[in-house]
Amino acid sequence: MQSVAMANATMLPLPPLPTYTLTPLQPLLSWIPDLYLALILPVAAYWVVSFIFHFIDEYDLFPQYRLHTPAEVLKRNHVSRWDVFRDVIIQQVIQTAVGLAITIIEPEATIGQDDYNVAVWAQRIRIAQRAIPTVLAITGLDANTIATKQAVAHPILSAALQGGSYNLYQQAASGDLVPAFSSWELTLAKAVYWIGIPALQFTFAVLVVDTWQYFWHRAMHMNKWLYTTFHSRHHRLYVPYAYGALYNHPFEGFLLDTLGTGIAYMLAGMTCRQSMWFFTCSTIKTVDDHCGYALPWDPLQHITSNNAGYHDIHHQSWGIKTNFSQPFFTFWDRLLGTKWVGGDVSARYERSRIAAQKKIDQDNISHSSPAQSLEVELSPYESEEKNASTLAKQSQAQLDPSIPEGKAALQALGSRQQILDDQAGGGVQVLLEEAAEEREAQRVLRRSPRKKTVSQASSAPLKGLRDRVNTSLHGKASGVLVESSR
Ligand SMILES: [Zn+2]
Ligand SMILES: [Zn+2]
Repeated sequence: MQSVAMANATMLPLPPLPTYTLTPLQPLLSWIPDLYLALILPVAAYWVVSFIFHFIDEYDLFPQYRLHTPAEVLKRNHVSRWDVFRDVIIQQVIQTAVGLAITIIEPEATIGQDDYNVAVWAQRIRIAQRAIPTVLAITGLDANTIATKQAVAHPILSAALQGGSYNLYQQAASGDLVPAFSSWELTLAKAVYWIGIPALQFTFAVLVVDTWQYFWHRAMHMNKWLYTTFHSRHHRLYVPYAYGALYNHPFEGFLLDTLGTGIAYMLAGMTCRQSMWFFTCSTIKTVDDHCGYALPWDPLQHITSNNAGYHDIHHQSWGIKTNFSQPFFTFWDRLLGTKWVGGDVSARYERSRIAAQKKIDQDNISHSSPAQSLEVELSPYESEEKNASTLAKQSQAQLDPSIPEGKAALQALGSRQQILDDQAGGGVQVLLEEAAEEREAQRVLRRSPRKKTVSQASSAPLKGLRDRVNTSLHGKASGVLVESSR
């Protein structure tokens, strides 16, 4: 300790930190405290963004970018728009109540410490410069020699090279001359304090939310009780739309969304004003992921690989056990092998969607050829075959025989079994409706000359599907294969 103290004693003293006085922070809007505004903003953003998408939907402004047709929204969803609206409001009431409870323990926001905090960072930058001579010495350079040469032309550089020995002084309040920071030190300190640290906090919070949501969401699908009790409700939306984003069982909404973002906010040490951005951005991203459109000019669709198209696969009966990542990034799916690898998903989407999607799917197909589907790469779907009922296997074989063997087939098989497990959510009925849709999709595709090869190749196994499904599903399906009665 003594040697360190002596070494420091030879250094120039650090520029002093300014004194400061804390005063209460004035609210952003004079008529509402920031803490309340932070709770209202995400709810307001949810409905504003949802309304924009609903407007686009109602007036069919961008049909070329739809992931599903309006008819699908009507026919395939197993919940009415009113029920969705009501449950979202319930979730938002819970979310706001929890937020209000937290505001009680939040300390009052104050202002006045920023210059002091910037000076603390400037001091750290000054201290860090003390290492420069040592670092240069390791690489064989003599800092003093270089510093002397540069002293006239570049005095600041020279001072930095000598470990931050600046001859800068300023008048203190007492009238004495005290050491001062150079302008670059202060500029860098301001950048760290005003941009660097908040960016780190935001990134960290995003990673916390993604991690929290991935593992809970995945658990909800891997555990039958969790799925049928809670999460199956969200999956009554086979064709998601914007304001269905927070359509959840109230417990799930509390656990995944409210607790997830709340914990991220606290761990990241955000201020109330930072939380306004974070809560609002998270909400808008979640709405955008359910919007039902792949709008090319929507920045949120491109910032990360997690977007409406990605999450839409998770809402399909053949992909429900894949693509668990939400709402920002997809790295957990990729790292843990739960990303959809079944290739071409475009047959169910609008034609304009097909072209772009297909390129990606071709890559996926080549990556998921049977030869590559070794045991280790089946993770975590090894037991899907074992757990699947005969009904699930038959329906998988008949509904989507084009899904490649190996992991993709297991993903789809597990997904179908999950649909069958959720009898309250429609069970076998869902698969039968899908068969009707698939035929309709193939019929539309046959009309498109560019898609001729695809439709010819994959429509053959669908011939006479109605009869085969009706008989092979042990009579359960008799007469319930719906084409147009719903
Ligand atoms: Zn899910
Ligand atoms: Zn969803």
